[in-house]
Amino acid sequence: MREALFYEEIGGSKVRCNLCPHHCEIEDGHSGTCRVRINKGGVLYTLTYGTLSSISNDPIEKKPLYHFHPGTVILSVGSWGCNMTCPWCQNWEIAHEKPQVQRVNPDRLIDLTLDRELEGIAYTYNEPIVSFEFVLDTSRMASADGLYNVMVTNGYIEEAPLKLLLQTIQAMNIDLKGFNPKFYKKRTSGDLETIKKNIKTISDEGLHLELTTLVIPGENDSEEEMEEQAAWIASVNDKIPLHLSKYYPAYKFNKPPTPDETLLKLYAIAKKHLKYVYLGNTNLNQGRDTHCPVCDNLLIKRRGFNVEIVGIQDKKCSKCQTDLNIKL
Ligand code: SF4
Repeated sequence: MREALFYEEIGGSKVRCNLCPHHCEIEDGHSGTCRVRINKGGVLYTLTYGTLSSISNDPIEKKPLYHFHPGTVILSVGSWGCNMTCPWCQNWEIAHEKPQVQRVNPDRLIDLTLDRELEGIAYTYNEPIVSFEFVLDTSRMASADGLYNVMVTNGYIEEAPLKLLLQTIQAMNIDLKGFNPKFYKKRTSGDLETIKKNIKTISDEGLHLELTTLVIPGENDSEEEMEEQAAWIASVNDKIPLHLSKYYPAYKFNKPPTPDETLLKLYAIAKKHLKYVYLGNTNLNQGRDTHCPVCDNLLIKRRGFNVEIVGIQDKKCSKCQTDLNIKL
């Protein structure tokens, strides 16, 4: 166990964790909402430093990241725990249970990435924010070795730790779970305003950023909400790719999967505001390829995880020379 960063003693042997906006006040012998930060005798420890539940070579499109080194494979690692409580969690076995783990310290993980001849590491599967110390140390060492670092996250983190991560993380996919503050509070235990603030900070800092919304029937699938969400993203940067992902029943939620018609309707609305919108977890033909937002030239063709770059030259559209938000 490692001592955690970002906490304070608040009297007796109680501590307050300041890593995420929950600011859990934790009694001796107890852990916070995320279950992986524990108070022992007035010292807060992280339980997930170098304890990984999964390590695998994934197509980067699976994160999903469609505009960051498209067509490459990234070493993807997950641990356990989460600071949100979504009842439809698609990774609940590691987010809300305690899975089998293996010990892999940062230097070993970097050796593994280099041995497999991969160019980067993705912190993903469960919520990487709750393994903050491990992600920070590993991403620092990986950056020093010329590897890139990617986080797939709910974005629910305080400003000071976020600023530290921004020094060594090169790309993020943030799960923007909806655009209704009441929905956010009730269903995820997070807070929409914090997520919006963090998205803006990350975009303003010039990090590569993509967003994902899991579309859940009757929860976050209204046309008005998507109109508002897409317009707000466009006000930050209309080149941020938005992935609309089809929900399937999981964990404590058993409503039927998102109808394709709903995905297509929301896709059309988001496309009015944003240059790049994609559909995920579905076999629909729409929303899988990348087209030039100016001349509609086909830039990247995707069939499953088979990716072909067909219309990009020198980071520009090969037909009309438009500068693209795509890092090859
Ligand atoms: S990171 Fe975990 S312990 Fe810390 S405030 Fe958030 S939920 Fe609580």
